Amino acid sequence: MFDNLSEKLDKALHVLKGHGQITEINVAETLKEVRRALLDADVNFKIAKEFTNTVKEKALGQDVLTALQPGQLMVKLVKDELTALMGGDVEGINLSGDPSVILMSGLQGSGKTTFSGKLASYLKTKKTKKPLLVACDVYRPAAVDQLLVVGEQIGVEVFSDRGNTDPVAISKAGIAYAKANGHNVVIIDTAGRLAVDEEMMNEIANIHKAIQPQETLFVVDAMTGQDAVNTAKAFNDILNFDGVILTKLDGDTRGGAAISIKSVVNKPIKFIGTGEKMDAIDVFYPARMAERILGMGDVVSLVERAQEQFDEEESRKIQKKIAKNQFGFDDFLSQIQQIKKMGSIKDLMGMIPGAGKALKGLDIDDDAFKHVEAIIHSMTPLERATPAKLDASRKKRIAKGSGRSIQEINQLLKQFDQMSKMMKMMQGGGGKKMMQMMGA
Ligand code: GDP
Repeated sequence: MFDNLSEKLDKALHVLKGHGQITEINVAETLKEVRRALLDADVNFKIAKEFTNTVKEKALGQDVLTALQPGQLMVKLVKDELTALMGGDVEGINLSGDPSVILMSGLQGSGKTTFSGKLASYLKTKKTKKPLLVACDVYRPAAVDQLLVVGEQIGVEVFSDRGNTDPVAISKAGIAYAKANGHNVVIIDTAGRLAVDEEMMNEIANIHKAIQPQETLFVVDAMTGQDAVNTAKAFNDILNFDGVILTKLDGDTRGGAAISIKSVVNKPIKFIGTGEKMDAIDVFYPARMAERILGMGDVVSLVERAQEQFDEEESRKIQKKIAKNQFGFDDFLSQIQQIKKMGSIKDLMGMIPGAGKALKGLDIDDDAFKHVEAIIHSMTPLERATPAKLDASRKKRIAKGSGRSIQEINQLLKQFDQMSKMMKMMQGGGGKKMMQMMGA
């Protein structure tokens, strides 16, 4: 996410690292690079200029005798400004109605249908709601099928009315159906066009007027950069929507949309989409995103994801095994499975401070565990439980079975050994010792 921007900002902010104090010259030099980085990321020209002017004023107005080094101070100022620009506080979704009606708007292909599903699934699991999805795209029969597939996947009912060509009538009928069937959230997926046109705008405006939703969300593809901002403006003029959903942030986005949209339409980004799967949804936290952009990582989100995905019972079982020195390859495999549930490895790496930079250029693919899994699957239960039994002939057999080399197997055994030792140390109250070993 935003690799290019992160790298360029890091370079720009490096200018000040060696300096003992903030001067007008080194600030100007740094901010010129910061502005260039923002423009390259497709941030609106005016916003980039205002951004650097604000940071400059703050930097020069600072007492030089602060505890922070000029480099650190500048990173902090840029981070604060990025946070403010992207929205400051987190804003949730208004779920006050009964049912609460959420209307989705946006261009075709922006990710409305996918996001409708993600949101329904999120509300169902996180907020224990009973959502209903309503298919209001009367132009593309395939759109209704798509929503039905999504609904099936996440176990959420979908309301549709194929013969009907009036989206206002369908949405009203959907809300009535929800009331009659105990659904307390209604998510209305509407039709989009490839570009903003009057007919589409009138249609969504009519639906909006007729159903008076508690929450109107505008869904936009982050990959479209400045276009995303322009489309947002057009939709906001008509709908005065409540929030923005930025999708496809997992791709090679330059970041401009995320940074500019809030200040152009003055509406918060509420969620982001980070993949095609139904669980690839994240609440948008401006401060955490700013930290990620600056390569400071996002440990809070990482820990939250871990907490969400980790199976407590399984963890307790494994802890017991470690204590008894019984941790084996089956447990290792189960740990890998848990990590995989947390999302794409690249995405996870991006949340670790400094990791994005360190891993730049490395091709981390999500199949990274496949070889390891193949090796473990080729072991007998006895070998998995007692890795010490792996002698040369067993290794040879496993290599043949898994299609991997003996070296890879040796490497895995070494990693396994290190991991077991580390876990043992953490469990034995040696957390502090381990932090010291890691240089913290
Ligand atoms: P709609 O026309 O606005 O309803 O858009 P869709 O929901 O059909 O999405 C269009 C395409 O974008 C589909 O292929 C989705 O799988 C894909 N998509 C949606 N959201 C994301 C996302 O967050 N990341 C990625 N990589 N793809 C997405």
